[in-house]
Amino acid sequence: MKKLFYSMISVIALLVVILLIRTLIFTSTQEAATSKVMVDVDAEKIAKHLSEAIKFRTVSAELNSQEVLIESELVETKLEDINLDESAHIQFEGFIQWLSATYPEVHSRILLQRLGKYSLLFKWEGSNLNLEPILLSAHYDVVPVIAGSENLWTHPPYSGVVDKSYIWGRGALDDKSAVIALMEATSLLLAEGFQPDRTVYLSLTHDEEIGGITGTKAIVENLSRDDVHLAWTLDEGSFLFDGFFPGVVPAVANINLAEKGTMTIELVAHGRGGHSSMPPKETAVGILAEALVKLQAEPIPGTLDGLSGEMFDAISRHMPFNQRLLFANRWLFGDLIDASLSSKPFTNAMLRTTTAPTMLSASIKENVLAIEAIGTINFRLHPRDSIKGVMKYVKSVLDDERIDVNLIGGSNASRVSSAKALGYKAIVHAAQSTYGNIIVAPGITIAATDSRRYEAIAENSYRFNPMSITVKDIPRFHGTNERMSIENMVNATRFYSLLIRNGSHE
Ligand SMILES: [Zn+2]
Repeated sequence: MKKLFYSMISVIALLVVILLIRTLIFTSTQEAATSKVMVDVDAEKIAKHLSEAIKFRTVSAELNSQEVLIESELVETKLEDINLDESAHIQFEGFIQWLSATYPEVHSRILLQRLGKYSLLFKWEGSNLNLEPILLSAHYDVVPVIAGSENLWTHPPYSGVVDKSYIWGRGALDDKSAVIALMEATSLLLAEGFQPDRTVYLSLTHDEEIGGITGTKAIVENLSRDDVHLAWTLDEGSFLFDGFFPGVVPAVANINLAEKGTMTIELVAHGRGGHSSMPPKETAVGILAEALVKLQAEPIPGTLDGLSGEMFDAISRHMPFNQRLLFANRWLFGDLIDASLSSKPFTNAMLRTTTAPTMLSASIKENVLAIEAIGTINFRLHPRDSIKGVMKYVKSVLDDERIDVNLIGGSNASRVSSAKALGYKAIVHAAQSTYGNIIVAPGITIAATDSRRYEAIAENSYRFNPMSITVKDIPRFHGTNERMSIENMVNATRFYSLLIRNGSHE
């Protein structure tokens, strides 16, 4: 008995020693921090430019509906009622004119093509045409401000108010700040007489928020027609995360190498219809509800691996001892970590394909039984899953002949770009030279971006905006009180100038 007790104690002691040793050697893998490089910029001027850019109501959703309206004869009479100064068309044209007046050197010295109506493609020709070009992208369209929410804003959404620290308004975070920082950086480099070795494309798109259906599509088609193959592209998708991970002091530059896919299905349950006073035991609505509950109760399996695994591996090395102990010993605590990350929407979305029921429809009257009840579900596909695989999974979980599962549409996750390629290294170097001591980690974008289109003509596509954000900034995206700090605009301008300088070399 005693012997058994002692051997158990020694097994436990050995386990503890292994766990501790693994934790102690689980240290930072960051390369020695590059020292900060100072680039002289005019903070006040940059803030003023972003403020002016915000004042144009470049809402792509309105542009789209207006185009549809103009095409329909029915509206011709109504067109006279539209105040032309307010129309979306005027806003987009106005922005393009303002851009050319504000950055005359960029417009006179770099070739500009206007594509897909309002999207702009600048081509800054390199000195060595044997090198593959690079492309930096940002979008200047914005999402609408929800009607009735205007009074929740500290400053009106299109006022572009500049206070001591911030520039306020729709597009300040997403993504006019990147547009302005790119233009400022290009102006700086032109003023210095900088000449890139590789050709540098700057792509300012006007329809990202409605899927890049005209602008980004036309840019990619145009480059493709000219047989352009890009070494790498950089577009939005992530930020420098400050204070997102409890106990981790340095900010995390999360440079995303891929983005999730999306797919939508409809579940259709059938019923006999009839008067609601004599309902059968089973109704279409009841069958559909049961199916939705079943699917939500059994999320698509996921675990901390791939890009999300790499991201947490880099970050967790900077966590306090207790958490480091867990991540250093994922062989033992993997399930615990998965359960904890799955409990929060943000990290759950990094681990797996998510299941989101979004729309419902059934009978049109309260006393009529539905003949059909339809539930729409939107999935965001992790790279390990496919549309085909998710369809199979849904059918096997439901295992119900009373339900039709119809695929409405979708696209699989993007390719995973390389973290060893020159482009990635140039982005890391520019981020470290701008911000000094930061953690750099790869990752995956959980929403869709223009990058998906660029990857058709690029070796690698990266997703990162060089501004620092905190958890409190998250609801401002597409929400109220969008704002960007002046300090961020200064740093973003520095970042892009360093990136173009180093990333366009041979
Ligand atoms: Zn955006």
